[in-house]
Amino acid sequence: MHRERLLYEGKAKKVFSTDDPDVLIVSYKDDATAFDGQKKGVISGKGAINNRMTNHFMRKLAAAGVPTHYLEELNERETAVRKVTIVPLEVIVRNISAGHFSSRYGVEEGLVFDEPIVEFSYKNDDLHDPLVNDDHAVALKLATREEISTIRSYALQINELLKALLLEAGVTLVDFKLEFGKTSDGALVLADEISPDTCRFWDSKTGEKLDKDRFRRDLGKVEDAYQEMQRRVMGGKDV
Ligand code: 5GP
Repeated sequence: MHRERLLYEGKAKKVFSTDDPDVLIVSYKDDATAFDGQKKGVISGKGAINNRMTNHFMRKLAAAGVPTHYLEELNERETAVRKVTIVPLEVIVRNISAGHFSSRYGVEEGLVFDEPIVEFSYKNDDLHDPLVNDDHAVALKLATREEISTIRSYALQINELLKALLLEAGVTLVDFKLEFGKTSDGALVLADEISPDTCRFWDSKTGEKLDKDRFRRDLGKVEDAYQEMQRRVMGGKDV
């Protein structure tokens, strides 16, 4: 399989077409942004860690019956994925209050919810990804009601599977963001990434932050946190 044209360059990834019209190549960058792109930086080694960790989680989720876009890890930073049309919703699952939940509703970080919260944001940089409910998403034709219901059940299933995997690694899954896509035959599959860029991971014993909040909030030891997450999740394996 060959990389052909650069189709899209985002904040943390590049996407290339290939000689197969149903296959794309995702290439993970070390670049990091926060606060709507206002804060920019580089997290050395992040691209390789996020590539491997995402693929590790996607393989586990696929084995448990969650359809994903993952096809094959090509090298340290690059992965072949199925071509999908991304559903323009950021799907956020929260187990514990943090981040925008805390700032939006005026509650401290660390409140453990009785049940996970699933929320949706409209993926639109110009509008700064506004929060939407199911009715908004249907009215804006971002997804059908049936698709939203499928996405919600996948999101909750993914939360349970990831929570269990991370618990074994001594990590509490606080919250995370997912994106879904539609294949050419209309099936909904998990797309994008699952990494310290898109999840909040707290050490189960100490509460230490092991994710991108270290970069967002200038907490230091950013690279160390990504490496520590790789070590815990992948057990020091190269793949
Ligand atoms: P919050 O809404 O509190 O900012 O984010 C909730 C969770 O979703 C966090 O784990 C955060 O990393 C992830 N998340 C939300 N929006 C984005 C986004 O635009 N980019 C990335 N990389 N992660 C996001």
